[in-house]
Amino acid sequence: MQKVIIIGSGCAGLTAAIYTARANLSPLVIDGHEPGGQLTITTMVENYPGFPDGILGPDLIENMRKQAQRFGATFRAGSVTSVDLSRRPFTIEAGGEKFESQTLIVAAGATARLLGLENEKKLMGYGVTTCATCDGYFHRGKEVAVVGGGDTALEEAMFLTRFATRVNVIHRRNDFRASKIMVDRARQNDKIQFLTPYVVTDVLGADKGALESLLLSQVGNGKTMDLPVNGLFVAIGHEPNTAVFKGQLEMDDAGYLISRGNAKSSVEGVFVAGDIQDHIYRQAVTAAGSGCMAALEAEKFLDAQEHAH
Ligand code: NAP
Repeated sequence: MQKVIIIGSGCAGLTAAIYTARANLSPLVIDGHEPGGQLTITTMVENYPGFPDGILGPDLIENMRKQAQRFGATFRAGSVTSVDLSRRPFTIEAGGEKFESQTLIVAAGATARLLGLENEKKLMGYGVTTCATCDGYFHRGKEVAVVGGGDTALEEAMFLTRFATRVNVIHRRNDFRASKIMVDRARQNDKIQFLTPYVVTDVLGADKGALESLLLSQVGNGKTMDLPVNGLFVAIGHEPNTAVFKGQLEMDDAGYLISRGNAKSSVEGVFVAGDIQDHIYRQAVTAAGSGCMAALEAEKFLDAQEHAH
């Protein structure tokens, strides 16, 4: 039986692993379907404090993993297929194995939706990204595109006008899902050009190792156009990885876990951290911060249990 199991090995899960390992709780980390989380699909990270020259996302994650291992955290590959949180110890099935734990830290993240194009994957981190806050700065003085018609897409488009010479907003309909005030604000910004209704049918530049242009098709008449851009920001929503917790942990309408403050979930002994409970900030540093909170709370919970017996 484990004292702490951590589900997810991104920034939040690994920070929770470092803290619980250093508290002598020998945490077990279940990697999940995307080991290392979102940082592994990015290149340079320049906003994580402590790295004045930046650090590659995969390197940052690898460092955190080694740091957790150094203090005794162990790792298991595989995704969680089921959990039973109705009684303690909790049971967790992952990668064909069954585990029991007194506490659980859920840091399984949220996955950015992608367009599903072959070259989009190849150019991820090389011009294609899902985070304007992270990568906008790399496109100073260049032309970029944002795809999506929700609040995120327009918020990112506005933010990108600080750096880019022009921001093309590509959306598959003429109507926007985003709030009217965001649409109005974006329309008033003369650095933003709206391309609707258009879909991105290909992302070009994979042979050169850097994004060069987008192939667009106009919805309705199939007219195509080539749009040279330096960056493509895919902003078509996120999916929190909460399917296995349905009916067991409280979540909002979009499926994000609800934190009741101090990293606590709706079940005593289960703590939440990172993007799985945060659709607002989604930053490596905020994920790490919440992983630390969850670890300290799990530690406190275990202490209280021990003293109660
Ligand atoms: P969203 O509201 O679900 O919008 C996703 C957008 O992407 C939609 O316009 C959708 O098009 C488009 N889309 C989805 N799949 C696509 C595909 N395969 N190809 C092309 N386009 C695709 O997601 P979000 O913008 O990330 O927002 C999530 C939530 O956070 C929303 O409730 C939003 O209001 C909120 N939010 C609020 C703020 C704010 O208030 N400041 C900022 C950001 C987010 P269709 O419209 O055609 O379906």
